[in-house]
Amino acid sequence: MTKLDTSAVVPQLPWVKTPLLKSSALSKLAGCEVYLKLDLLQPSGSFKSRGVGNLILKSLSSNSNRHIYSSSGGNAGLAAVSASVSLGTSCTVCVPTATSEFMKSKILVAGATSVITHGASWVEADSMTRKLLKADPTGVYCSPFDHPDIWEGNSTIVDECVEQLGGGVPDVMIASVGGGGLFLGLAQGLRRHGGSGKTIVAVETEGAESLAESLKAGKLVTLPGISSIATSLGARTVAEKAFEEAQRSEVRSAVVSDAAAARACIRFADEERMLIEVACGASLAVLYETGLKNLVPELTPESKVVVVVCGGNNTSLEILEKYKQEYALRD
Ligand SMILES: *Cc1c(COP(=O)(O)O)cnc(C)c1O
Repeated sequence: MTKLDTSAVVPQLPWVKTPLLKSSALSKLAGCEVYLKLDLLQPSGSFKSRGVGNLILKSLSSNSNRHIYSSSGGNAGLAAVSASVSLGTSCTVCVPTATSEFMKSKILVAGATSVITHGASWVEADSMTRKLLKADPTGVYCSPFDHPDIWEGNSTIVDECVEQLGGGVPDVMIASVGGGGLFLGLAQGLRRHGGSGKTIVAVETEGAESLAESLKAGKLVTLPGISSIATSLGARTVAEKAFEEAQRSEVRSAVVSDAAAARACIRFADEERMLIEVACGASLAVLYETGLKNLVPELTPESKVVVVVCGGNNTSLEILEKYKQEYALRD
């Protein structure tokens, strides 16, 4: 048998350095310098390429033939497939029946070995994933948010921002929170650059506000269910570390309505010419509707604010059109 020549296949990093662009429209609105960290441009369509990509990269360091298993029907699954393909390995994704054909086909097109539909919710899909893993001793389990390698990968956002701001650390960073992996990455990155006192605005939607509820209760709270349309933010419990980190006074927790997050996606498309999903729209809704000054009164015209445009694949002209019909006038 001829040996496969793989010398031409250069493993690539699963994520890219993304642009940091100043937005004149948002700067004018917020009365300070607002920059967009464009992680919607990651190979998988969201910032998850960084954290999930880093976890997979590290898992393959001693054995590059390990198969990857992800149980996310969303952006984490897509990031796992995208990273696996770019690093020359294979990936299986288990999704619940609730996952749309739209997302399943995206995961297949990205290069998944297979997409297995199992059970009504993520819990069942995840137990299927673990069953498959038991039969594969070198298999890698890929969590969407709860692993130090994920936080480390996500922290590269801050490294890039500091470099792109000419060595300055952002005064405020705005990010959406699901399980808290992105948030923890930002906190870690800011600490590394001596900016541990800088503000992070941690944004959730009503019906997925597991961090806000935990902060209110003073203990880690598990929501009975997720009622928000922002399913990418639908972790019923945040990572314990995220809850600990969020208790610092430099962190501001914000909750926006689904309607505000949906409207933000439409306005962002119109004003900045880019498509994002509603999980990302939540962060922009803080600027468009809540008003950043209401959350961060110490803001000055010189403040440098970075919005992590985390992206997301669950978006299209059709989806935004539906949001327009449904949410234009709602609270
Ligand atoms: C996963 C995801 C989030 C939330 O990230 P966590 O690390 O789970 O907090 C936000 N936005 C998008 C688009 C996502 O895919």
